[in-house]
Amino acid sequence: PLVLGIESSCDETGVGIVRGHELLANEVASSVEQHVRYGGVVPEIASRAHLEAMRPALERALATADVDLTEVDGIAVTAGPGLMGALVVGLASAKALAASLNKPLYGLNHLVGHVAVDLLDHGPLPQPCAALLVSGGHTSLLLVNDITGDITELGSTIDDAAGEAYDKVARLLGLAYPGGPVIDKAAADGNPKAIAFPRGLTAQKDLVKRRFDYSFSGLKTSVSRWVETRRRDGEDVPINDVAASFQEAVCDVLTAKAVDACEHLGVSDLLIGGGVAANSRLRSLLEERTAARGITLRRPRPGLCTDNGAMMAVLGAEVIERGLRPSSLDIGANSGLPVSTVLV
Ligand code: ATP
Ligand code: MG
Ligand code: FE
Repeated sequence: PLVLGIESSCDETGVGIVRGHELLANEVASSVEQHVRYGGVVPEIASRAHLEAMRPALERALATADVDLTEVDGIAVTAGPGLMGALVVGLASAKALAASLNKPLYGLNHLVGHVAVDLLDHGPLPQPCAALLVSGGHTSLLLVNDITGDITELGSTIDDAAGEAYDKVARLLGLAYPGGPVIDKAAADGNPKAIAFPRGLTAQKDLVKRRFDYSFSGLKTSVSRWVETRRRDGEDVPINDVAASFQEAVCDVLTAKAVDACEHLGVSDLLIGGGVAANSRLRSLLEERTAARGITLRRPRPGLCTDNGAMMAVLGAEVIERGLRPSSLDIGANSGLPVSTVLV
C-alpha cells in the first residue's frame, strides 16, 4: 500500500511517504533551534512550529515521492504518546486530509513507529523478536509478537529515559541541546574507562527484582557530583573523558539487559529504535555483544532513528496489509498512550 505518514509528537514535523517497505519521501522540519536557548523543548513553541511547517513539509514530500494525494491508500498519523498540543496539530492535519480525500485514517503509536521504521532498511520482521526502545522520553525492552498489535513490555526505566540522561548530562557539562549527538561526538575523543560511573539496577538484588528495568537518574547525579567536585577544587573538567565514561555506563547497561532479554525470551532477533539508537557506541557495543551470543541485530540507519513521518507511514502500511480497521475520525490525541496500543 501507498501510505502517507504524519508525525508531530515533539519538536519534529515529519511527513513521510512509503509504498510497503519502500521509502519514497521523508521530510522532517525541526524546531530544535527555537528551543536551544531554553535547554529543552517548549511545548507552545513546538505547536506553533508544527502549524507553520506542516503544509510545506507535505508539499515537499509529495513532490519528492512524485505522488498525488488522491493515489494514497491511507493516512497514518501519530496519535500518542507525546506533547498534547503538538500531537493535535498532526492529528488535525491527518483528519482533514482523510475526510476531504475520503481516505482511511490510522491513528498510531509513536513508539511502535520507532521500532517499525527498521522495516524500511531491513525488510520483513522476524516475529517474535525483542526490541530495545531508547528515545528522549522512553526506554524499554519489548517483546514484539506482532508489530501491528501484540507487543508486551518486559521492563522500562524507573526514572529518566536514556535520551533524557544524555540531554541532562550535556547540560551540566555546558554542552548544547539536544545532548545525545554532542556527547556522542565528545566521547569519541575521550577515555571510556577514565571514570567508573555506576551501572543502574545491576546489583545482584536488582537483577532478581528488576532484571529488565533501567535507571539513569543515579548515574546523572553521580556525573554531576564528580564534575562539581572538580570545579570546586579549581581543577579542569575533562569533558571528553566524562562524556565517554558516562556513555559507556549507559550503553553497558542498555546492551547487557537487551541481550539478557533475548536469551530469557528465547528469541534470536533484536531490534533497536528511538533517537538514542543513533548512538555510535550503543550500536558498536550491541553489535559485539549480540554477535557473541548468536543474536541477529537489526539497526535502522541513524537518520531514521529520530522522529520522522516515514516511521508512521511504514507502520501504517503494516496495519493496512493486516487488514485492520481504520480509526474513527473523532479519535483524540493521547499524550500517555501505552506502547501496547498500536492502533487507536
Ligand atoms: P519519545 O520518542 O520517547 O516520545 P522523542 O521523540 O523526543 O521521545 P526521539 O526523537 O526518539 O525522542 O529521540 C531524541 C533523543 O535522542 C534525544 O534525547 C537525543 O539527545 C537523543 N539522541 C539523538 N541522537 C543521539 C546520539 N547519537 N546519541 C545519543 N542520544 C541521541
Ligand atoms: Mg526531537
Ligand atoms: Fe520519538
